[in-house]
Amino acid sequence: MNDTKLSWIDDDLELLKSQGFYKTFRVVETPNEAEIIVDGKKVLNFCSNNYLGFANNSKIKKAAVLALETFGVGAGAVRTISGTNKLHQELETKIASFKKTEDAILFQSGFTANLATIPVLVSENDVIFSDELNHASIIDGCRLSKATVIRYKHADPKDLEKVILENPDFSKKLIITDGVFSMDGDIAPLKDIYEVAQKTGCMLMVDDSHGEGVLGENGRGIADHFGLHGMVDVEMGTLSKALGVVGGFIAGKKNIIDLLRQKGRPFLFSTSLTPADTAAASEAISILESSDEAVKKLWDNAKYFQEKLRDLGFDLGVTQTPITPVILKDAKLTQEFSKKLFEMGILATAIIYPTVAKDGARIRVMTSAFHEKKHLDEAIAAFAKIGTEMGVISK
Ligand SMILES: *Cc1c(COP(=O)(O)O)cnc(C)c1O
Repeated sequence: MNDTKLSWIDDDLELLKSQGFYKTFRVVETPNEAEIIVDGKKVLNFCSNNYLGFANNSKIKKAAVLALETFGVGAGAVRTISGTNKLHQELETKIASFKKTEDAILFQSGFTANLATIPVLVSENDVIFSDELNHASIIDGCRLSKATVIRYKHADPKDLEKVILENPDFSKKLIITDGVFSMDGDIAPLKDIYEVAQKTGCMLMVDDSHGEGVLGENGRGIADHFGLHGMVDVEMGTLSKALGVVGGFIAGKKNIIDLLRQKGRPFLFSTSLTPADTAAASEAISILESSDEAVKKLWDNAKYFQEKLRDLGFDLGVTQTPITPVILKDAKLTQEFSKKLFEMGILATAIIYPTVAKDGARIRVMTSAFHEKKHLDEAIAAFAKIGTEMGVISK
């Protein structure tokens, strides 16, 4: 039974465990809300991307049920065969109007949107200038494109301009950045990056996964936040975070979207979003268009929570958004902290290498519009108690 050709797998797993980098997964038994049941225990949810509480919103669920009953459970084919339902077209039109772009195209996830798009924009003789902290799906999309990838210093337009000028010998040039950086919560200086792109003749793509539903008027995202409508060539977004459903999209000029419909491989070779998901995302955007109530509550909650944690002496890094990294540095200590929080009824997961740097371990706390003040206060008290016990803070 000792299969020697696979023995490296156990070695690999053992190595991860001994380094404290081995991840475990808790199982949730309820909808994604403030109070959830995890591994049989009732806890407060402080680690979801469900920023606006839309994942269990009754209006959105109704739209999904109606679509499911009208159109069935699956789209039945890829978009170019018979998998383009009228719901897909409606959602694409809606996204374009919400983002104030000419057109939009749907993908099965944000991850696939990046994998689909980057290889359509650039290839072998081209170059990508990529923020050093960009998301894994951007990194993989860059690899698939076969273009040369040159990383620039995180959120640093001066370094970006420098590396562009140092590398003139390429055909097409593309700058890619996350809009909001998911592990630190800081916002890319997109206006300055846009100016560098203009000056140097680079195409510009932004991944707005954590900006959608969070930044800008009624959650329109980072381009709206900076007043850059129609100026960012490619705006990528997800339907799975603030919008609460699943799926991804690209919004931009008509000809770019048209080319993605011709050449985006996940669009051509993977079945389209289900009717229920599509209708749910449409309803989520309708809600945002008609009211900014959820977005406001999200920000009020985030500001309150972050102020209290900073007062306690926790290091929240450079966050400018509801993403709240409580940076503890050491991976094992961070996992222990998260375990103690769970024992006190607070679910906030440890983020460790390779998601962040080896010495950048943190508890990533996500505040949401679904939290009430009592939930926030309970979490703040737990952080204070454990932080003191573990010697992380000195109050
Ligand atoms: C979550 C995320 C994605 C992937 O989006 P999904 O819709 O979950 O696949 C891509 N980019 C960034 C920056 C993200 O945070």
